[in-house]
Amino acid sequence: MSKVLIIGAGGVGGVVTHKCAQASNVFTAITLASRTESKCRAIAAEIDYPVKTVQVNADNVPELIELIKREQPRLVINVALPYQDLTIMDACLATGVDYLDTANYEPLETAKFEYSWQWAYHDRFREKGLMSLLGSGFDPGVTNVFTALAAKHYLDEIHEIDIIDANAGNHGQPFATNFNPEINIREVTAPCRHWENGQWLETPALTAKRQYDFPAGIGPMNIYRMYHEEMESLVKHIPTIRKAQFWMTFSDNYLKHLEVLQNVGMTRIDEIEFNGQRIVPLQFLKALLPDPGSLGPLTKGRTCIGVVAKGLRNGEKKQVYIYNICDHELCYQEVKSQAISYTTGVPAVVGAIMMLTGKWRGAGVFNMEQFDPDPFLATLAEMGLPWTVVEGGDWLEL
Ligand code: NDP
Repeated sequence: MSKVLIIGAGGVGGVVTHKCAQASNVFTAITLASRTESKCRAIAAEIDYPVKTVQVNADNVPELIELIKREQPRLVINVALPYQDLTIMDACLATGVDYLDTANYEPLETAKFEYSWQWAYHDRFREKGLMSLLGSGFDPGVTNVFTALAAKHYLDEIHEIDIIDANAGNHGQPFATNFNPEINIREVTAPCRHWENGQWLETPALTAKRQYDFPAGIGPMNIYRMYHEEMESLVKHIPTIRKAQFWMTFSDNYLKHLEVLQNVGMTRIDEIEFNGQRIVPLQFLKALLPDPGSLGPLTKGRTCIGVVAKGLRNGEKKQVYIYNICDHELCYQEVKSQAISYTTGVPAVVGAIMMLTGKWRGAGVFNMEQFDPDPFLATLAEMGLPWTVVEGGDWLEL
């Protein structure tokens, strides 16, 4: 019996619940808990499999402990917000349950992306014989596994990685983010850091711009360098990596709106006084922007997320590109969500399957590249996200 407790009934939580129900041979019982129970019920109503719904405030450790004790899951899948990572890990430790998430912890008051807070739980999880799997989404997540695949099968030594994330889809809205607007804007507006010659180099947000010719008919698009958390764990666990960069596509329209919103102070994350009330401008902006969930039926086009890894094979320089293509409309037909939530939710479920079936096991806190990529990628393709490997090709210099 593998009962699972999913926390967070947003875009990703919806996909995770659909996909756990599809894999009912592994997930024999499902509970979906979130701050607003009506959102859990709406997801459960879409699914032809029993899903129990519960209201929980995941900022409150005693409340989480009570919920976990009552539900007795084998695993908690955290797809709430990064702010809740530590409280949910605390509750898992207190109740002796394994933990999985898709995004690293962030303190509410600073947009600071690093694994230090969660890595600090390693000994406590190890001593209790529990497992915690961090960042089991697409990026972080599958991009870590693609890098592990390159290291296992295609290169003897990896020297450089470029993680390249394209959303070539269109939702027709003047400005919207395709996952939680607050988290998305905090990430995009943070200063850029990349890894070069054994150190992090910082540059202002979105100042390094290139063009990349994407495969599968997507064609050339502008990409912008930004910081992304998987680089931190990859350079730690694969120390031959000398240079690591992360790139993402943004339309001119998105950047134009973002610039204006930043200039007028709407992306600020500190509290301001407004009509006798304390408000955080970015949280107010989130309330005005379209709910990413509402973009599902509107979004057309595809995503292409992959890793270009360069290094040595048999003493010769070699490059390999590993990527996935995902179609927004096909995702919506299957699980009522666009491809961004789909490409995050499916790997979360695949990570959970790896843990519950014992294919990935360990006591402590782990990142995705620390395990064998083969069983994960085989299951990922079966569950809707196949991948392509291109060996050789023009040497990429970004
Ligand atoms: P949403 O905002 O759509 O959903 C978040 C859900 O968490 C909401 O249902 C929200 O409740 C719930 N929640 C928030 N705070 C609490 C709380 N204190 N207690 C209980 N529930 C709470 O976000 P997404 O689904 O888009 O993203 C989910 C996670 O996935 C995020 O951590 C995000 O960073 C991560 N992500 C990872 C990616 C990857 O590739 N690795 C890519 C995209 C996202 P309510 O409905 O009441 O607001």
